[in-house]
Amino acid sequence: SEERRQDYISFYQQAVDFYAKNLWSSKGEKAREYLFSRGLNEETIKKFRMGYSSDPREIGEYLHSRGFSYAQMVKWGLLGSYEHRDRFAGRILFPIYDREGYPIAFGGRIFGTTEGVKYLNSPETPWFKKSDVLYGFFHAKDTLVKEKKAILVEGYMDVLSLHQAGITSAVAPLGTALTEAHLQLLQRYVDKVILLFDGDSAGLQAASRSLDILIETNMESGVVILPQNMDPDEMILEKGKDAFLQFLEHEIQSPLQFKWMYIREYQLKEQPLNKHLEEMFQFLSKISQPVAQHEAIVSLAALVNLNPNILYEDFRRYLQKRK
Ligand code: ATP
Ligand code: MN
Ligand code: MN
Ligand code: MN
Repeated sequence: SEERRQDYISFYQQAVDFYAKNLWSSKGEKAREYLFSRGLNEETIKKFRMGYSSDPREIGEYLHSRGFSYAQMVKWGLLGSYEHRDRFAGRILFPIYDREGYPIAFGGRIFGTTEGVKYLNSPETPWFKKSDVLYGFFHAKDTLVKEKKAILVEGYMDVLSLHQAGITSAVAPLGTALTEAHLQLLQRYVDKVILLFDGDSAGLQAASRSLDILIETNMESGVVILPQNMDPDEMILEKGKDAFLQFLEHEIQSPLQFKWMYIREYQLKEQPLNKHLEEMFQFLSKISQPVAQHEAIVSLAALVNLNPNILYEDFRRYLQKRK
């Protein structure tokens, strides 16, 4: 209900404030040092209201004194049911905002230790569905409206580093796959999505899967794969904004180019050309408009050096066979 949602948001707002205050107190010194060592500055940390949980008990006690029950805090994902400990104790916190800028969850990163998973997200609640939320969306929204283009990256730190460098169209899923709901949200504001993924096998696979659903929309798309073992966060810190943007412009691939490369060099590596083409046909069959579908086949023909008419006939035959 609406009233409960207001309670929920008020709860998260108070948690965000508490953790932020903690980060900027003497208790947060190590956490601040870590963030600075990652290249984030005070302005960025404050803009996204990042925080730190220094103690497994404090947040529960504080919010309890503000009228929230322990059962409620467990249910809303802040405390573990066992001894009501802060799920995020010892972690740096990335508040996750809804599209209107209200906090609805946290991501938490460990630092200074390798014990425990690197990132932990709040569990889902009636007001927090991972598949609906893009990290950074609220802060990117004005830019999305202006530039009509979104840059999709993989993680929290990528979003923050890009925003800090002035590339404020960056958003990221919450460590999960891109969904149709994410695209529906973006489609209200942009007509192009650039996939900018890590230069590792996970990044390649994520780009390929993301294209499978992107191609069903009528948004344009492009793919940039970073050099081996680099991610956007590392790259922008190393190169700076201008060289980074030049790199994007130089390295951007069309969905067709990327898929063709991916199918041949990774997905169906040792397999013959007809298998590669069939996989491509399956991809291109997801394009909803026939004209665009035909254009894609013509581009593919140019890419693989085949006669476009013959390739289009093959494609039609593939579609028939599939029925
Ligand atoms: P950092 O730069 O802080 O190491 P990253 O964003 O580069 O973080 P990746 O390993 O590239 O980390 O992962 C991308 C995203 O996937 C993360 O931002 C996070 O949302 C999610 N993620 C990574 N590791 C985990 C994990 N162990 N559990 C849940 N989500 C994770
Ligand atoms: Mn990665
Ligand atoms: Mn990464
Ligand atoms: Mn990283």
